[in-house]
Amino acid sequence: MSKYWSDVVKKIQPYVPGEQPKDQKYIKLNTNENPYPPSPLVIEAIKKAADEALRLYPDPLCTSLVSSIADYYHVSKKQVFVGNGSDEVLAFGFLAYYNQGDRILYPDITYSFYPVYSNMFQVDYDLVALGSGFELGVEDYLKKNDGIIIANPNAPTGKLLSLEGIKTILEANMDQVVIIDEAYIDFGGESAVGLVNSYSNLLVVQTMSKSRSLAGMRIGFAIGHEDLIDGLNRVKNSINSYTLDRLALVAGAAAMKDQDYFQETCSKVIETREWVSKRLEGLGFEVPRSSANFIFAAPSRIDAEELFIKLKEQGILVRYFNQPKISGYLRISIGTDQEMTALCEAVAGIQESVVTGGQ
Ligand SMILES: *Cc1c(COP(=O)(O)O)cnc(C)c1O
Repeated sequence: MSKYWSDVVKKIQPYVPGEQPKDQKYIKLNTNENPYPPSPLVIEAIKKAADEALRLYPDPLCTSLVSSIADYYHVSKKQVFVGNGSDEVLAFGFLAYYNQGDRILYPDITYSFYPVYSNMFQVDYDLVALGSGFELGVEDYLKKNDGIIIANPNAPTGKLLSLEGIKTILEANMDQVVIIDEAYIDFGGESAVGLVNSYSNLLVVQTMSKSRSLAGMRIGFAIGHEDLIDGLNRVKNSINSYTLDRLALVAGAAAMKDQDYFQETCSKVIETREWVSKRLEGLGFEVPRSSANFIFAAPSRIDAEELFIKLKEQGILVRYFNQPKISGYLRISIGTDQEMTALCEAVAGIQESVVTGGQ
């Protein structure tokens, strides 16, 4: 605590990202990165753009990237906003749509950045309890509120909410903005982008960090009614007009265009997720159905935190949340088949040693 800090900075509780340790080589299954490299076209585009033009500012309108996203989703360029990671897009959304003292809704178990932004921007919030199987109750979002944020599929549970459910929520909340954070939608859900022309209160936020293997480039985007996009641009141009650099702009556009590579890598992740889910069930885990590039699984033969620690000792990183309702679970990102085989073998070995060691 410093006397020089503003009142807000004294009060906020910053987000703690998953670890990126440098002490040894880990099998990294803790931050939902994609195990496959970005499209070769992305690398080529970045190399081509790494030239003397870097002395010039990038295009503040991000035209080429915005166009590639608009083409992919069959929307107009005026319905697309791009930002330096979807975390930035979400932060801008808070500033663009919610007032200090407003009361917004999101689930009690969800992406932990939402309460961080709420505190930072002094927006109040109600945590809406998920059901016992982590399912989201649509009827809980029909009460009075000043805004709603839903990650779909949800993090860290991987649970998908149907488009019908989203429509019901949108219809009951036409006077405030509903943000659907689709960071994981490409791994098994249908995007709500198709609803933006029908619902002027819908903002769909996506990222290239997960399904397009570009966490290191920081590219996020939002699709919604022109007026919502305008709001985001007003915020951006009051903070930093050049949020995306020249390399990110070309990388993102190339990634959106290489649809074959995108489909292929998403399919591989999904296939791996399905066999790993079964294998872990065989090892005594409860594995709720995931629509994301991770699984949220509860071991029954060992304490989750103990397993987390022992896996780390063996060079395998997963995510453990020491938090009510989910402290019995591990969030395990889907890696390559080889990495996931190593994970399953390590789990089996640890469980065996715990059982025999404890007797
Ligand atoms: C990973 C993630 C993000 C952030 O993505 P970036 O584009 O890397 O900032 C946003 N929302 C959810 C739910 C995520 O899991």
